[in-house]
Amino acid sequence: MPPITRLVLATHNAAKVAEFRDLFAPHAIEIVSAGDLGLPEPDETGTTFVANAELKAEAAALASGLPALADDSGLCVDGLGGDPGIYSARWAGKPADFPAVMARIDAMLTERGLMSDAQRRAHFVAALSVVWPDRQRLTVEGKVFGTAVPPRGILGFGYDPMFRPDGHDKTFGEMTAMQKHGIPIDGSQALSHRARAFQLLAAQLFTAR
Ligand code: IMP
Repeated sequence: MPPITRLVLATHNAAKVAEFRDLFAPHAIEIVSAGDLGLPEPDETGTTFVANAELKAEAAALASGLPALADDSGLCVDGLGGDPGIYSARWAGKPADFPAVMARIDAMLTERGLMSDAQRRAHFVAALSVVWPDRQRLTVEGKVFGTAVPPRGILGFGYDPMFRPDGHDKTFGEMTAMQKHGIPIDGSQALSHRARAFQLLAAQLFTAR
C-alpha cells in the first residue's frame, strides 16, 4: 500500500470530519475534507455499507488525485429487520431531524411489543475504505453491539442518544467523544464502530511499513 502523507476525507458531514481528525491526530497525516476541495458527493447507490464506502472513496480519489478515505455507517435495529441500516441518513430526513426519527424507531419497537433489552438488540456499523488514485483499496468494517433505548443525552450526533453499548449504562449520547470511541492505549479493542474500524485500518496502514 503506498504511504500516505495527505488524505482526503470523502465526507461533507462536519461531525464525521471532526471524529476522523480526532482519530488521525496521533498519526502524521494532513487531512483535507472533500468539502474543502469542493468535490461533488456521489449518490450512495450501493446495497451494503462496504459498497457505499468504496464508491465514495473512489470518487474522491479519482477527482482529487490523492488517497481518499470514506465511511458509510448506520444503525441496524434487529426488531426492525436491520433498518434503518444503510438508509440511516435517509430515515432522518433532509434536513435531518434525529429527535423525530429516534422517537419513530422507539414507537415502532413499542408498537411491536418489543420492550425488553433482549428484544431491542441493535448495532452500529462503520465501513471504512481508503482508495488510492491508482484504484488500490483497503476496506474494513467495525461494529458495536448494544440496545436501542428511548433517547438519552445530548452529546455526540445522529442516533447516539438511542444507543446503549453492551457493558455500559450510558448511551453514546451521554458519553464524551473520548468515552464513545474508547480507544485504549494498550491496543485492546476500542468501543465505537468507527473507532473499531479505524483500529483495523490503522493496523494495516501504519504498521505494515
Ligand atoms: P452516512 O453518512 O451515509 O454514513 O450516514 C450515516 C447515518 O447514520 C447518519 O444518519 C448518521 O447520523 C448515522 N450514524 C452513523 N454513525 C453514527 C454514530 O456514531 N452515531 C450516531 N449516528 C450515527
